[in-house]
Formats: sequence, C-alpha cells, structure tokens
Amino acid sequence: MHELSLMESLRDILEAEAVSQQFEAVQVVELTLGPFSHVEAEALRFCFDSVMRGSVAENAELRIQWQVAAAECPACGHRCSPQTRYDPCPACGAFGLRIESGDELMISHLEVTP
Ligand SMILES: [Zn+2]
Repeated sequence: MHELSLMESLRDILEAEAVSQQFEAVQVVELTLGPFSHVEAEALRFCFDSVMRGSVAENAELRIQWQVAAAECPACGHRCSPQTRYDPCPACGAFGLRIESGDELMISHLEVTP
C-alpha cells in the first residue's frame, strides 16, 4: 500500500529530525499533498496511527492540507486547476496541459516538544 510506505518514510524522517534537532516528541505534523500525489487522506490517517506507535510521533496529530494544482494550456494560454494530469483545457479542449504543480507531498509544518 502506497500510504503505508509513505508513513514509514515519514516516521524515519521524524526520527532522524528528533536526533538532529534534538526534540523529544512531535505534536503536530502537517502534510501538504497535491491532487496528483495519489494519496487517500483516510488511508493515510489509518496508517499514521499504527506506524507512529512507539516513535517520536506516537501521539502526534496529523493534519493534511490539499494543494490546488496549477496548469497552463499550451494552445490558448488558459490557466486552470485540473483534477488529473490528463485533463483537457477547460477553455479550448486541447490536451497536454503544462502542469506546474500538483505532485506535492511534503511536510509543511511541524510542532515539537523540546
Ligand atoms: Zn486551452
């Protein structure tokens, strides 16, 4: 499962951060996800609880921010927020939108207990 391996790498990142930044525990982890990251928020939350057990983020709260995708049509220059990377241009119907963002999958905010 995609979400499970994501949460496992998140845990490894947080554990490494706890050592290098010298904090005791994570209180809040906020992830920013793009619509093309193919992640299900519910599956993520489910994996988060089990994967973080026994780690520095054991009692952390998971927050999820969705980022809106941005793309530009190469044919007419229209700017839009497609739902998938293969959407046609909503203005002229051309395919092949130039995707500028939407793949995000990052830790955008972290609150820790020193
Ligand atoms: Zn267009």
